[in-house]
Amino acid sequence: MKKGCPYGTHRVISPKGVLPQPADVIDNNMEIYDNEVLIDVKTLNVDSASFTEIEKRAGGDLEEIKKIMMGIVEKAGKHKNPWTGSGGMLIGTVKEVGSAYVGDLKPGDKIATLVSLSLTPLVIEEIHEIRPDIDQVDITGQAILFQSGIYAKLPDDMPEGLALSALDVAGAPAQTAKLVKPGDTVVVIGGGGKSGLLCLYEAKKRAGVTGKVICVGGSPKSTNRAKNLNLADEYFAFDATDAVGMYNKIMELTDGQLADIVINCVNIENTEMASILACKDGGTVYFFSMATSFTKAALGAEGVGKDVNMIVGNGYTKGHAEITLQVLRESEALRNLFAEMYA
Ligand code: NAP
Repeated sequence: MKKGCPYGTHRVISPKGVLPQPADVIDNNMEIYDNEVLIDVKTLNVDSASFTEIEKRAGGDLEEIKKIMMGIVEKAGKHKNPWTGSGGMLIGTVKEVGSAYVGDLKPGDKIATLVSLSLTPLVIEEIHEIRPDIDQVDITGQAILFQSGIYAKLPDDMPEGLALSALDVAGAPAQTAKLVKPGDTVVVIGGGGKSGLLCLYEAKKRAGVTGKVICVGGSPKSTNRAKNLNLADEYFAFDATDAVGMYNKIMELTDGQLADIVINCVNIENTEMASILACKDGGTVYFFSMATSFTKAALGAEGVGKDVNMIVGNGYTKGHAEITLQVLRESEALRNLFAEMYA
């Protein structure tokens, strides 16, 4: 077997010298290097922004979506959406493990890769089914996990689709668990969405009885979704692009104190300032949303003289998969809701 670089640079075709994620084209030959893992892929969970873009281009036509997806992989050797730059993740079964691979994977293990499809060598032989509501695509195909690639073994106590949908946003609840301290006031914007619901659960658990968790939903429907599960202390539906309106509302609900932690889980642009204004000086804003502009956040915070810590939504934090799956095990109500919506 040929020797591979832990980060997979041996597979970069162009441009030379970059890592596999920013590369335009990577080698998707499925003969593995000595430190790689070969996976038989079952389902791709395409990134929400990416899938929405492809669906729009295809005019909602499933056959056209298939063609676009096959075209992306044929050209780039990976499913990196050329228009959004984003990927997604996959589930499958380990087929072969390189002789120099360090880790506990063995053939037959069912795993979810937790590194982006935008860097994962992939071959799609056939697309069987597309589930546009939840961005999942069943395929026959193979993929490669590099030595540095993170993954989670699929739990045997829940359906694969359920685990896949939760693991897709695993960074958010895990980061929430690390940020929120007892007594904190926490605002979750987009609290009725997939990542938002998981964040609310963790925030409430960590803030405890002396804390306060406020759920801001994009619509009454998603707000009620969180309310029905009793995931927060206060709930309201609000357009998070209205920064001053958000500030006034959070001032009112916190007796003028504002929030210690604000978690942004929305899927639209221009919500940076609502998040920043809802946060007190010295507090933390965690931008999980990929629609965040960090230029807008940085210059906007400066513009209003806000001294807040701002965290980029790294999809990974230590223990993120375990923390997220644990939420679904602890909360039957949340698990049922996720099973109904995403599995
Ligand atoms: P989701 O389930 O679609 O949730 C998004 C929520 O945003 C929805 O509940 C929606 O409410 C709410 N929203 C939309 N417009 C709003 C507005 N104007 N004001 C307030 N709320 C609004 O999405 P998700 O899967 O949780 O993902 C959320 C974000 O995380 C996305 O931007 C995604 O790209 C990002 N993400 C990041 C990573 C990472 O590694 N950092 C990984 C995965 C996903 P309604 O339904 O009521 O409209």
